[in-house]
Amino acid sequence: MQPTIVEPSRSADSNPSTPAITGHCLCGAVTITVAGEHDPRVGACHCRMCQRWSGGLFLCFTADAAAVTVSGKFTRYRSSAFAERAFCPRCGSHLWFNDVEAGGEPRSYELMPGLFDAARAWPLRSEIYVDRAMASLRLAGEHRRKTRAEYEAENAFVDGDIE
Ligand SMILES: [Zn+2]
Ligand SMILES: [Zn+2]
Repeated sequence: MQPTIVEPSRSADSNPSTPAITGHCLCGAVTITVAGEHDPRVGACHCRMCQRWSGGLFLCFTADAAAVTVSGKFTRYRSSAFAERAFCPRCGSHLWFNDVEAGGEPRSYELMPGLFDAARAWPLRSEIYVDRAMASLRLAGEHRRKTRAEYEAENAFVDGDIE
């Protein structure tokens, strides 16, 4: 599963000029605009579910649900009791992951950074399930790292991740 890492809240007042950013899927059918609070850093997850979904490594950045506007048709896949993953049904681009309580609305989105030109310069914030990383995907650099045991000690996980 992915991190739903909530960074210490920054009041909108501290950065009133956060510019809106826009991204789109490969075919252009789905456009996502983030107008407002978002974390301009990327998180990575190497859990087994994310490896299967992404083909290797899941990357995301966090935005408040209130700041996110989606246009175009997308498909949601309920990957666990508490989470959904969305993709473009036309081109297959992955769009986001979010925690969704049964029958509830998402409070935040973990958006795929590759959809957004603005995210190309953003640094890596953190990495989880590092002990599950594929040999081809060991990420260098100074950022927070958590093993599966460390992450699951603090967060719910799903049986689908257990080999
Ligand atoms: Zn994951
Ligand atoms: Zn598409």
